[in-house]
Parts: sequence; structure tokens; C-alpha cells
Amino acid sequence: MTYDLNVAHLYGDLMNTYGDVGNILALNYYAKQMDVKLHVKIVSLEEDFHAADYDLAFFGGGQDFEQTIVAKDIQTKKVELTKFIESDGPLLAICGGYQLLGHYYIGADGEKLPGIGALDHYTLKQDNHRFIGNIVIKNAETGETYHGFENHQGRTFIGQGERPLGNVISGKGNNGEDGTEGAIYKNVYCSYFHGPILTRNGDIAKHLLVAALKRKFPDEDFSQQEALPIPATF
Ligand code: GLN
Repeated sequence: MTYDLNVAHLYGDLMNTYGDVGNILALNYYAKQMDVKLHVKIVSLEEDFHAADYDLAFFGGGQDFEQTIVAKDIQTKKVELTKFIESDGPLLAICGGYQLLGHYYIGADGEKLPGIGALDHYTLKQDNHRFIGNIVIKNAETGETYHGFENHQGRTFIGQGERPLGNVISGKGNNGEDGTEGAIYKNVYCSYFHGPILTRNGDIAKHLLVAALKRKFPDEDFSQQEALPIPATF
């Protein structure tokens, strides 16, 4: 293979709700077709994350208990994760991972867990309720339609510099109120979609991989990779 990309799977041993690890399998599937070899490393509790070591990152969803543990540890990675994001590092964050990139997440029991505030969203709790079910959204800029399954109690409100991953066609999305789902900030894609998201929405995998290639090899032409046809289902 011609291109090597180093991928950080953030807290991959703790944050893997509803088979989110399938996103790593999907990334590998698309990467191979792009002539790219991925080197994936789980970066978990008490392990260092150095922004310069990685070309791509993935942060899956988790239950409140795991999130409580991760919310503490991730503060030690806040500076380097923020550096990675601000230097246009491509990152996919799902559900619990999405919540912890923002300012805070209020768990089902009312405990307020700090995020790293790298993105300007915050997440409130619902009273004895979760948003569960299939969801369809449409991205306003690309016109792409994304399909997934959501299961979250948190209600997220996106902020400065963030635009939604899509507008809700059916389902609840970020908060059941403002018609948005997920967030995009620089090369960070956030979503509540499980499924896993990349096995059903290859376009997002392609955006992440192309962004990582362009960032790592700025002098190369990746128009062939950008033109890769994406199958409707994985
Ligand atoms: N524990 C969080 C919530 O319920 C995240 C859930 C998840 O990652 N699926 O909102």
C-alpha cells in the first residue's frame, strides 16, 4: 500500500456502545480501496495522546458509568486533543465521545461530567427518557443523506463554530427540539448515530480519510480517492 495513516482509537476498550468498533472495520475497508494502510492503536486510561503521532482519531459512545471514568482521564489529554483538532486533525466522535468533546454532559442521575471543551456544545439530561430509534438526516452542504440508529438520554446543543452533521428528516437528533443532528467543526465529525455510522454512511468515512491524506501529504493529488464510489451499504 502507498499511504500509511496512524489512527488513535480513543478509549476503544471502554467506549464501544452498540458495536461502534465497527467504524474501525469500515475505515479499514474504505482505506484499502484508497491504497491506504491504517495503523490503529487504542489510547486509553493513563496513556499519552500526542497530537503529532496521529493522522486520524475515533472516539466511540459509552454508557454513563464508563463515561464517568473517561471524563476524568480525558482531562489529561485535553491539551493534545485540542491541538489535534485545531490543527485540522480528522476525528469521528459518536454519542458519549461526542458529548465529552464538548463542555459537559449531565448523566441520567444528574451528575455533571466535564468534557474537554474543544468543541462548543453542551449536553443536558432528560427526565427518565431516552431518544431511541432509527434516524435519517440530510447534510445541507453536500446534500448527502445519512442513516443510523440513535440511543441516548443526553440532549446536546451545538455552539460557536459548529454546524450540524445534518438536519433531521426523521428521528430526534441532538435534542429533539432544534432539528439538528451531530456537529461538524473543522475536520471533526460528531454524531449520535450508532449502527455503526460508517458501515451505513461510507461518504463520511471517505471525507475523514481524504482529509487525513490531504493533511499528511499536502503535495499529493487525491482526486482519485475523492472520486471513489461509495456503496449504499457496507
Ligand atoms: N451515556 C450517554 C447518553 O445516554 C451516551 C450514550 C451512548 O454513547 N450511546 O446520552
